[in-house]
Amino acid sequence: MDSKVPRGPAVGIDLGTTYSCVAYLKDDRVEIITNDQGNRTTPSYVAFTETERMIGDAAYNQVALNPVNTVFDAKRLIGRKFADESVQSDMKLWPFEVISGINGRPMIVVTFKGEKKQFAPEEISSMVLIKMKQIAETYIGSEVKDAVITVPAYFDNSQRQATIDAGEIAGINVLHIINEPTAAAIAYGLDNHFSITGTRNVLVFDIGGGTFDISILTIKNGGIDVKATAGDTHLGGEDFDNRMLNHFIEEFKRRHNNKDISKNPKSIRRLRTACERAKRILSSSVETRIDIDYLFEGIDFSTIVTRSKFNELNADLFLKCIEIVEKCLTDAQMNKNAIDDVVMIGGCSRIPKLQQMLQELLNGKNLCRNINPDEAVAYGAAVQAAILSGQGNDRVQDFKIVEVTPLSLGIGLNGDVMKVLIPRNTTIPTRATTSLTTSIDNQTKMRLPVLEGERARSTDNNLLAEFVLSGIQIARRRVPQIEVIFDLQANGLLNVSARDKLMGNENSIAMKSGRLSRDEIDEMIKKSNKFKADDKKHRKKDKARRAFKDYICVITDSINGRDMSSDEKKKKVEDGIKEAFRWLDAAEEPAEVHEYEERMKEMKLIWEPISAEFCRESDVPCRREN
Ligand code: AMP
Repeated sequence: MDSKVPRGPAVGIDLGTTYSCVAYLKDDRVEIITNDQGNRTTPSYVAFTETERMIGDAAYNQVALNPVNTVFDAKRLIGRKFADESVQSDMKLWPFEVISGINGRPMIVVTFKGEKKQFAPEEISSMVLIKMKQIAETYIGSEVKDAVITVPAYFDNSQRQATIDAGEIAGINVLHIINEPTAAAIAYGLDNHFSITGTRNVLVFDIGGGTFDISILTIKNGGIDVKATAGDTHLGGEDFDNRMLNHFIEEFKRRHNNKDISKNPKSIRRLRTACERAKRILSSSVETRIDIDYLFEGIDFSTIVTRSKFNELNADLFLKCIEIVEKCLTDAQMNKNAIDDVVMIGGCSRIPKLQQMLQELLNGKNLCRNINPDEAVAYGAAVQAAILSGQGNDRVQDFKIVEVTPLSLGIGLNGDVMKVLIPRNTTIPTRATTSLTTSIDNQTKMRLPVLEGERARSTDNNLLAEFVLSGIQIARRRVPQIEVIFDLQANGLLNVSARDKLMGNENSIAMKSGRLSRDEIDEMIKKSNKFKADDKKHRKKDKARRAFKDYICVITDSINGRDMSSDEKKKKVEDGIKEAFRWLDAAEEPAEVHEYEERMKEMKLIWEPISAEFCRESDVPCRREN
């Protein structure tokens, strides 16, 4: 295994586009860990305000008030370039700003504590990971340093590397990057396959908020062999929401004198939330209402949307899903009748039309719904984390997982041609070598573009990295022999090296395809630690503020309706309370902890003697207010 050495409890994290989930294998049982709000999944949202940074439910709950500084969908940006078509089209509907940064990488711009700040998608994802780590630590009761993180099977090398970078920025030792459908198959396999004899071919249909993945795997006693994967890293629930959103933007225009709400982030956010809700309802009802008061320029918006309208708006996207399933069957060289089980995961696997189309394709095969579509991926990742960290019983430890590479990998040659070294759907880990030579006399340098994709031309494929092998021995053309080695690890990450073989020249370059440099990651880790310190400080201030406010409220309750032995004393307490509230309201952001403590001390000096007097009068033991 290519994993790094674990150092304690290891968890599985499903880092989703819209929601994330963390699980832990304890006493041979997988626990899906609930967050501080009691929820089993946590929104992958990060918000920045005048005073603090919020992650998860807290960020999601304030999104309508602060849409431009609430970031979501980092998974749709991670490992991509600003100029990518998908980034350009997503940006049109995001309320937050995205700009082009160093090397054409997308950067998210927000206002935090009154200042403009830029964050890489890896940093935003690292914040979500920090939250998931904290959720796990609260449950386990000790520090969690190790995790298995899931990615869509169809994530390319840059997206995988960027996810590992996000883990590193969050202070997580990423033991392994596992494909989401494979993780779901582990959950399914551990739940069912011990009662199954022989071999079962399983199709995992995974459609979440932002990505669509298909894997065909064989589960047999003791393990999982992935036969083929296919998918689209930009196809999911949010695309379905966007179709509805655009439809209603047009409907609003039609109904209200061509008024365009699309430039108003708050209106768009409210309409988007309503569309997402409608989509969920339409999985169990045939129609639903959307009612939004004062959506735009004081105009209310009310409409009815039917399941058939929703299906019509998304017909081509649903069809695309089915075509991808067909492609995966072809790649796995499997007839559809050979599929024994169909496992449905991801929130959108509940959409009836998608279920119906898939069933029709598979000649009416029943779809398995006995695993939780929102939790199966984290469950499988937790099992993988346990395997890698030596936890769990023999049944867990003996589980073997064999994955495949989703895209072909190769080298770009002269003439704009890609030479494939590792074809897609090859079992990983794997290693491939090829021999290249020079094209002109006395050539001492060779440029080696490392590519990923299925197209014949180099320029049509994804350029992962490019390196130059220099110091080639001077010789006539076609004499030197350059050996190029592709080393693809079990988590889908690639190392490439090249050396001049013929002349014994040791000049070789090992390349790890990655997007962020070591320095950039270190800088982001520093920034993240500063945030951690900031968050801690903010929480302390907030605690002190609440303690002071609670104290004042208790005093207010205590004096309400009570006679005091002297009006002077009463006035002193009332003035103290008034002043305390004035000061609390005037503070634009939380004051320093010592200021609350000083105020508390002053108030105690006024209140404690009077409180003691009350106790004596009432003959009842007094409770202490703090
Ligand atoms: P995931 O990434 O697996 O957490 O899936 C999240 C996506 O599933 C979001 O786009 C949700 O709106 C969508 N989703 C959740 N529940 C349902 C449902 N009952 N019907 C349709 N879509 C749903």
